[in-house]
Formats: sequence, structure tokens, C-alpha cells
Amino acid sequence: DPAAVQRFASSLQREANRLGHIVQEIIELSRLQSATYVADSGMVNLNEVISDAIDRTQIAAEAKQMRVLTDTSEQVFVTGNYEQLAIAITNLIENAINYSPENTKVSVTTEIEDGIVQISVTDQGIGIPESDQARIFERFYRVDPARSRETGGTGLGLSIVKHVATKHGGDVSVWSAPAVGSTFALRLPIYSNTGETNS
Ligand code: ATP
Ligand code: MG
Repeated sequence: DPAAVQRFASSLQREANRLGHIVQEIIELSRLQSATYVADSGMVNLNEVISDAIDRTQIAAEAKQMRVLTDTSEQVFVTGNYEQLAIAITNLIENAINYSPENTKVSVTTEIEDGIVQISVTDQGIGIPESDQARIFERFYRVDPARSRETGGTGLGLSIVKHVATKHGGDVSVWSAPAVGSTFALRLPIYSNTGETNS
């Protein structure tokens, strides 16, 4: 039955992708948890990281007729690991897309104040109930497991973001209101010549 073969094949492919994604996240998280310092730390152009992260999420955004907008007026540099920072920002944009209805917007903005750059990822999505907001950064925590089965996540994305933030001497926080949307703010110390990063 060629139709059934096709259906099973695409289901196999989907599950294989999902497993690949989980394995990648687990490897990333254990790598972050085992090192006490940021590996391959250097001067990183944050604007490059942001546009790279937007590129990586483009297919997912297009599939939902969503646009990811950014303001890249000011050049900002931080000290750290390019790939880790790219993964963190990609995870935030991925969530903004996954937990929003079609045809909505996501924005990525940067703001500098007192030697800190804040990268904000804002969506017009389903939002997060206040009672869950403290727990979403925990490993495997998902707000609505039944509903979010459709989105096929693992619950590791935000805990990776949190680890990357902490390793880089920064932090991540959330503002959210159900049915209004969410803003995730990643704050990082801007580049210093001493090359020091907190562990
Ligand atoms: P993955 O490991 O693939 O990232 P995930 O997206 O479920 O899976 P996290 O990124 O850690 O895991 O997010 C945890 C939970 O927080 C999500 O399951 C979702 O319930 C909620 N969440 C995260 N970001 C948003 C958002 N922008 N809007 C609404 N809910 C969100
Ligand atoms: Mg996620």
C-alpha cells in the first residue's frame, strides 16, 4: 500500500528528527553543566548571533506565516562562546514561534544600560500562567503537557538558556500574561578587554 508506506515513512522521519533534537539538547545541557568556565571564550558580535539565530528559526516561522523582526542599529559585543549564545537565543525565538498562533509577530530587541545588554524576545502568543513562570526554567518542565505534545518539545530549551546565561555572568527572566504574550529577557555583561567571564 504505497499511501501507507508514505505515511509511515514521514512519521518515522518526524520521530527521528524529534529524537535527534532531544539528543542534541541533552548533550548541550550536560556539556554546559560539566564545564565550570565558558569554553572557547572570546569577543562575540551579538548582532551576528541574533541574525544567525533568526536564520536558524526561519523555516519554523515561515511555516506559521510569522515574522521575526529585529533592530540591529547598535553594535554590541559580549565575552563568551558564540555557539552557546546562538543556541540560547535560538531557543527563545523557537519558543516564541512554537507557542504563538499563526500570523503573529516576534521581535528581538537589544538595550544597553550600565554595562549590561538586555536581549528581549517578545511574542504575541499563548502566554504562561503566573503560577508556572517560576518553574519553566527547570529541566523537563512544560506548562501543559497534553497540549504541548503537538509542539513536540522536551522541556530542556529554557534550562539550556538559563545555563548559558549564568555561565556568561548574566541571567534570564520572563514577563508573561496568558492570551497576551511573553517577553524573555536575556541579560549579559558587555565586552570587557580583560576577557573575564564569570563561571
Ligand atoms: P524544548 O526542549 O524543545 O525547548 P519546550 O519548548 O517544551 O521543549 P522549554 O523551551 O524549556 O521546553 O519551555 C518550557 C515550557 O515553557 C514550554 O513547554 C511552554 O509550556 C513554556 N513556554 C516557553 N516559552 C514560551 C513562550 N514564549 N510562550 C508560552 N509558553 C512558553
Ligand atoms: Mg523550547
